[in-house]
Amino acid sequence: MSERIRIAIIGFGKIAQDQHVPSIAGNPRFELVATANRTGEGADGVPHFTSDEALLAAMADKLDAVAICTPPSVRFDIASRCIAAGLQTLLEKPPGDTLSEVEELARLAAEKPVTLFTTWHAQYNPGVTAAAGLLAGKRIAAMKIYWHEDVRKWHPGQQWIWEAGGFGVFDPGINALSIATRIFPGALFVREAILSFPENRQAPIAARLAFHSPVAEGPLDADFDWRHEGGEAWTIEVRTADGDIILLSEGGAKLSRNGESVAPAGPGEYPAIYQVFAELVDGHQSHVDVAPLRLTADAFLAGKRELVEPFEDPARG
Ligand code: NAP
Repeated sequence: MSERIRIAIIGFGKIAQDQHVPSIAGNPRFELVATANRTGEGADGVPHFTSDEALLAAMADKLDAVAICTPPSVRFDIASRCIAAGLQTLLEKPPGDTLSEVEELARLAAEKPVTLFTTWHAQYNPGVTAAAGLLAGKRIAAMKIYWHEDVRKWHPGQQWIWEAGGFGVFDPGINALSIATRIFPGALFVREAILSFPENRQAPIAARLAFHSPVAEGPLDADFDWRHEGGEAWTIEVRTADGDIILLSEGGAKLSRNGESVAPAGPGEYPAIYQVFAELVDGHQSHVDVAPLRLTADAFLAGKRELVEPFEDPARG
């Protein structure tokens, strides 16, 4: 199939507007034909609906695909309805609240059949693919993940991130885990985790994780923190047993090997996601990757909880 894919965005918030709209507009295979949100307005020039059900009822024969960019808690119900309607379905990260939900979506998509694509945007940095190539088959001496950012900058006024099931600092931290699971040359398991919960919130503002792996000899650590002001620090450094130092920085956008910059080319995260989505639809295939969600779930299973000072968000008014 090489005709245009008519797509609607469900959940028209920050990431939909910042990334999905321009990436759809920049890819000739896609045409944005509708949006849905419970409140607020949609994209200029296309119909907007206040629920996915209203969208599906009105647009059933004018739609091929959906990009679901809501918070994760409502994604399973919406995705189930879209799959049942025969729509090719792209899920923002994380693909669901629980592993069981994502497994069931994969089953439903295979049964229908439609394409189900669990996107992990950080994996689509060209440096991430290159790092996976540099680490393939190696033994690992150590890995240090450092993922610090300012929650007030990246999630201004958002409340869902602080609810149980809202992921807290794992909302960005899962991006680091999506890179780690993509580049690490073997299985990764959570050994221990310390989760820091503001005393007025249901989700952690910081987390420290330690992993183990059959292909690693030394420490494998991750440090996530949402209390970081003045720019982001998103790095993953992997030392191989044969002495290489592979450093991904700027969230995976930059790669160096032993201090020398490696500059692989690529279209960028979200344009690459839409290229892959078109290929999956054309090939009648799905791509369902739960590895980052599984590590996150394991961190909550294994995690010790510590209480830290309350978090207040002035953007909430
Ligand atoms: P957001 O700004 O809160 O947007 C979420 C949107 O979903 C809101 O517009 C909300 O509007 C809508 N929504 C909620 N429930 C809905 C429902 N039942 N039906 C239809 N629409 C619904 O959040 P975001 O930052 O864009 O994040 C959304 C997802 O993208 C998250 O999973 C996040 O991890 C991921 N992501 C975010 C970023 C980022 O930088 N912010 C980056 C990459 C990925 P209403 O409440 O009016 O319905």
